[in-house]
This record gives sequence, structure tokens and C-alpha cells, in this order.
Amino acid sequence: MSVLVLIELNNGNISANSRAAVTAALKLSGTVDALVLTDNPNNSNTVAKISGINKVKFVADDSFEHVSSEVASSIIANQMGGYNYLVSGSSTFSKNIVPRVGAILDVQPISDVCEIKSNNTFVRPLYAGNIMATVESLDSVILLTVRSTSFDHAEDGGSASIEEISAEIPQSDSSFISIQESQSERPDLTTAERIISGGRGLGSKENFAIIEQLADKLGAAVGASRAAVDAGFISNDYQVGQTGKVVAPKIYMAVGISGAIQHLAGMKDSQVIVAINNDPDAPMCRMADLVWQGDLFEAVDEMLQS
Ligand code: FAD
Repeated sequence: MSVLVLIELNNGNISANSRAAVTAALKLSGTVDALVLTDNPNNSNTVAKISGINKVKFVADDSFEHVSSEVASSIIANQMGGYNYLVSGSSTFSKNIVPRVGAILDVQPISDVCEIKSNNTFVRPLYAGNIMATVESLDSVILLTVRSTSFDHAEDGGSASIEEISAEIPQSDSSFISIQESQSERPDLTTAERIISGGRGLGSKENFAIIEQLADKLGAAVGASRAAVDAGFISNDYQVGQTGKVVAPKIYMAVGISGAIQHLAGMKDSQVIVAINNDPDAPMCRMADLVWQGDLFEAVDEMLQS
């Protein structure tokens, strides 16, 4: 049994979800190789330091700073000979690529895996996390994406061998034009230990600023419900939930968020949940470890003043 882990790099940095993928891969096999598609061969040295990786295979091309999913999936599918599994962290990167690899290999990918029960049995959420399904794969090659919040992030400390692969780079109908990234001094939402999230209860974009002030005071990331995003209080990069980011911080503070199932799907694995809400019957209050029942503006003001 051998595993190939698809590594996601952001400006040369290994994504947290790729480190979770390595940990998940090590539960399947003692032989875990990593595959890196990169514009800079030196990035493979960084990947080789992750503990538990046996060999880093890399394909380098100038165009791979923003490799298209068509090109990536074709190269990855060609590398799967000899591997029983492809494991990748759950992210938009892998959502774009892994299903295409599945189509090329004619196998069914299993996404958002939260637990590995055996070599072919996995636990994954269904219906916005309301059901945890145990699924068994009978495919000869198993493709998995794993939730970063469900597996420890493999640390550095290894010294894997490195091999450059000379892969044929297929023609693609799509090409990279530009990227617009949101810039923030705050912790990254998906890996933050503390998150302050605001909902429709804030009432306006101007009022939402108090969430940002509180986050800055507490060294936290900012999150939001979809209602807050749809109302234009904040951009959708900050949305937590079924159609937003999945997070599991040490503390998740939900301010003026009712706790619809689609929101809970993105944060229910948080270690401590704090609800600030004037409705004690809101689902968020029923799920929370701590509830501040009352007006959110008074509560946030009190915390800002303290
Ligand atoms: P509301 O439900 O309106 O809740 C506002 C809360 O603020 C209430 O509990 C109220 O008591 C409280 N409040 C109001 N004023 C105050 C005050 N002054 N002091 C204290 N408390 C106050 N939602 C997501 O968040 N993420 C998703 O990814 C997502 N995906 C979805 C996907 C689909 C297919 C669908 C159909 C829906 C999705 N939604 C998602 C939307 C979801 O169903 C809810 O509509 C949304 O989460 C509600 O946001 P909210 O809690 O901010 O607003």
C-alpha cells in the first residue's frame, strides 16, 4: 500500500491542509510520497522537510505558479501507477483537481474525509454535516480529500529524497490571467485559533466594524455568516459554513448569528463556542458552551472597553 499526497503551495509555503493530508496518508501506509507541481524546484526542498514523507516527486514548469486544473489532473493521473491512494487536503485547489483525476482514472473520489476507519473505509459529512456517513470504497485506486480540521498538521523534521519527474505537459484550453487576493494582517481564517464571527444581527456594514475591532483586540480572525456577506457587511472570503470556509478554532465567538445548519456545518467542530445573542432559543445558543444573552452591541462594547 503506498500513498501519493498532492501538495498545495501558496507562494512557496505549504498549505496547512497539505500537512493534514500527510498525517491522514500516514494512517493508510508507511510509504507516503509527495507530489509537487511548482514553478520553483527549490519548493521541493521545503516539502522534503515534512516528517513522514518518503520521497518528494516534483514537476517544474514556469507556468505552474498557477497551474490549471486540466494540466494538473492529467499529470497527477499519469503519476498514479504504483500508488493505491491519492490524498489531498480539502480546499478549492483539490476540489478543482481531484474529481478530474477521478474521471481520468474512472474511480470515485471521496471528499471531505474526517476519519479513516480502515484501508478502504472513511467517515465524511453529508447534508451539511448533519449526518456523518461511513463509506467504503471498492476502487482499485482511492482518491481522498481530507478535512484540515480533522487531522493533525504534520510538522517539519523529515528529510525525504527528492526526484524530478519529466512529465509531458498537456495543452490546456484555459490559462491563468490574474488573481486578486484579499490582504489582511489578521490570522488566516481557516487556521486561526480564535475567530470572531458576525451575523445579520450586526445590522449594517458600519456596525460590522466592531467585529473587526474585537478581533484585533483578541488577536483573532474575522468570520461571518452568509446573511452578513449577502447583506454586504463583509466580503465572501470571510463566510463560514457549508458554502464558505470550514473552521475548527480553539474559540469561535458567534455574534448576532442564529446558527442555521448551513452555518453550523462550518464551525461546529470548534473547541469552545461562545454565542452572543438576544434570543436564548437561537440554535447557536443551544450549541454554545458559553452564551452571553443580551444585546450584542452592549456585549461587544463591554469587551472592547475591558
Ligand atoms: P439570522 O438568521 O437572521 O440571525 C441573526 C441573529 O442575530 C438572530 O439569532 C438574532 O436573535 C440575533 N440578533 C439580532 N439583533 C441582535 C442584537 N442586537 N443583539 C444580539 N443578537 C441579535 N449561512 C452561512 O452562514 N454559511 C453558509 O455557508 C451558508 N450556506 C448556505 C447554503 C445554502 C444552500 C443555503 C440555502 C443557505 C446557506 N446559508 C449559509 C444561509 C443560512 O441558512 C442562514 O440564512 C444564515 O446563516 C443566517 O445568517 P445569520 O445567523 O447571520 O442571520
